[in-house]
Amino acid sequence: MTTQTTQTTQAAKAAPLPAATPVGYPRIGPGRELKKAEEAYWAGRIDHAEFARRTRELRRATRARLAELGLGAAAAAPESFSLYDQVLDAALAIGIIPDRFASVVGPDGSVGDDGLFALARGTVEQPPLEMTKWFDTNYHYLVPEIGPDTDLHLASQRLVELFTESLEDGAGTRPVLVGPLTLLLLAKAQDGAPEGFDPLDRLDDAVAVYAEILAELAAAGAPWVQLDEPALAADQRLTQTDLADALQRSVGRLAETVPRPQLLVTTPYGGIDDLLPVLLATGVEAVHVDLTRGGLPTVDQLASVGDVQLVAGLVEGRSVWRTELPTAAARLAELRTRVTAAGGSADAISVSTSVSLQHVPHTLDLETSLPAELAATLAFADEKITEIVALAAGDVHPGDIDGPRSVPRTFEGVRVDAVRERAAATTAADTDRAEYAVRAEAQRQALGLPDLPTTTIGSFPQVGEVRAARAAHRKGTLDDAGYEQAMRDEIARVITLQEELGLDVLVHGEPERNDMVQYFAENLEGFATTEHGWVQSYGSRCTRPSILFGDVHRPAPITVGWATYAQSLTPRPVKGMLTGPVTILAWSFVRDDQPLGDTADQVGLALRDEVADLEAAGIGIVQVDEPALRELLPLRVAQHEDYLDWSVRSFRLATSGVQEATQIHTHLCYSEFNVVVGAIDALNADVTSIESARSRGEILEAIDPGAFPRGIGPGVWDIHSPRVPSAEEIADQLRRARAVVGPERLWVNPDCGLKTRGYAETEASLRHLVQATREVRAEAEVPAGA
Ligand code: GLN
Ligand code: ZN
Repeated sequence: MTTQTTQTTQAAKAAPLPAATPVGYPRIGPGRELKKAEEAYWAGRIDHAEFARRTRELRRATRARLAELGLGAAAAAPESFSLYDQVLDAALAIGIIPDRFASVVGPDGSVGDDGLFALARGTVEQPPLEMTKWFDTNYHYLVPEIGPDTDLHLASQRLVELFTESLEDGAGTRPVLVGPLTLLLLAKAQDGAPEGFDPLDRLDDAVAVYAEILAELAAAGAPWVQLDEPALAADQRLTQTDLADALQRSVGRLAETVPRPQLLVTTPYGGIDDLLPVLLATGVEAVHVDLTRGGLPTVDQLASVGDVQLVAGLVEGRSVWRTELPTAAARLAELRTRVTAAGGSADAISVSTSVSLQHVPHTLDLETSLPAELAATLAFADEKITEIVALAAGDVHPGDIDGPRSVPRTFEGVRVDAVRERAAATTAADTDRAEYAVRAEAQRQALGLPDLPTTTIGSFPQVGEVRAARAAHRKGTLDDAGYEQAMRDEIARVITLQEELGLDVLVHGEPERNDMVQYFAENLEGFATTEHGWVQSYGSRCTRPSILFGDVHRPAPITVGWATYAQSLTPRPVKGMLTGPVTILAWSFVRDDQPLGDTADQVGLALRDEVADLEAAGIGIVQVDEPALRELLPLRVAQHEDYLDWSVRSFRLATSGVQEATQIHTHLCYSEFNVVVGAIDALNADVTSIESARSRGEILEAIDPGAFPRGIGPGVWDIHSPRVPSAEEIADQLRRARAVVGPERLWVNPDCGLKTRGYAETEASLRHLVQATREVRAEAEVPAGA
């Protein structure tokens, strides 16, 4: 009780959060300064002092920019800088360093930049921390590894240093840290941890270190600290009751510690429903809610709001569309009414984004070639900050609905009647093929493949000349004919190599594609591409998602020329290679004016035309990749069915128009196979290749022969590592897989495309793969369980 009083007094003295503040801001830099500095440092082109100078300059420029946009007040700008990943930062802050990296910890228990990069990127001795997708986004975080004896302690001064530095640059930022509950829910048990150990078992210890961090930040003069708890918006392995309890034991405990700065807890990526009352009652000073995915909280859910300042995530932080400000203003007014009805203070509400702006590019200002009508409907990070500032200031007028701020999207290409009519006319027959047994027999006759057919996932290593030719063609220094010839030469080389290696189903190697989604976006109608719209994918890696703004259709064949050229060079079957609708949506910025499923259908139909043209041109096998099928799976289980329904439908629209003898493949990666195994089955592909080197047992268990009666290729070579697997280990994997799957259904392939690999390890690994397959083919099958 005493603590409660102290705290209230403390909070009353301190300034409230500014009226407008985003959850986070991109850190890569408008000119990808962070990427460039890191890559120069890693390659040894600059020393650590120069690296530090460049990242310091990036932070100074970022803070100046945010002040210019209206976030100059103390704690208005979140401190979003991270050298690599915010989850890694939080793990390091509290000393979650796996034993296998003990050598990176200094004598004082701290970890410097080089140690951080060692965990993130691996060393000669140690593979890096595993990387996986952050909620339902295309951002990847590093998975902390923790054990029962991990020495949790303050291992990094980064937060205090960044805050102190921000004071030099102005009024001071708001330190941001992934919260303890989310951090441990995203962590995994380190190798060798006892059976049954759950990272959450360390919650109390973690909270104790967070409390130390808060005390240090208070001593440094930070008025506010932000803890991000996105895990509250996703269904977890805990029940809601256990989650509420863990929230109390983490955030609740931290709220009781003294001294500490005022606390803002954010809950991005969705609504938190019944956990909101729990969070509001923890004693923190401010709570952020995502009001774009989650609905407005009810008066009941706000019952414990009291003095808590609500931070209203009214502006969608992960799309590139302008906010309809009058609508957002009306929702803000309704929220004020409800907060007042619940006994809180309506004036205390701040306006924010739904999630960190790290998922959108920095600014529209750099774009010079977007069609003006389209550009007028867009908002990147800087423009979204302008929106929250305007909303907070009440600078929104009913007339804005027709004014410059919310431009109706009615320009050319947004609605194409023929596309809509075609989509509306599709029936169940368009997503059906003949029975699998009939197809399998027709394909056996047409293709004449051996048991355990060998193949690859599509791309071959992208050598320097290929990239140079693509770049020169884009710049205009290499003409169409020269480019065509360069690609053909590469295709011929890759075909010859595959024949020499003895692979059964060949690919053209995808040299013409810089990116498996952008390539299709550039060749389909309905998409626009940006010049500088880079978004961090992980570490120094950025992607430049296309903008899907209009009705999608295919003006002309896209891949047919390359595939038929490849096929003309060899008697063996060449697989046509396409990117599936869900993946195209997942890795683009997609229109939000119609259900995703409607957009997916349009993409599916456009691809259906491409599949038909490939088939007509004599390509007997077509692969439609869906590596992002898992990524877009909703965070709430209740929404899975609807998602799987439309995602499967769009894939089947793309692939069901073919003859029985035409073999449809699909490829999935980054998949927790178990979660989507039903959907994979529903895709109805003849052959599914799937990444499995890092989770092999799991995948073989999930492949119940009864439930998955078609061809399957669990990857036998982990292409994310430069390591060459031996023929023996591949043969072992094949024997195990054959025992589960049976010889008629097992395919032999690597985990994923080979684009990022070098030729030396690719040739050696594929040689082993073919050799292992020949050995296993020659052996009598050992029955399962033997
Ligand atoms: N066909 C693609 C390739 O081989 C698939 C890539 C992926 O799954 N991410 O590159
Ligand atoms: Zn893959």
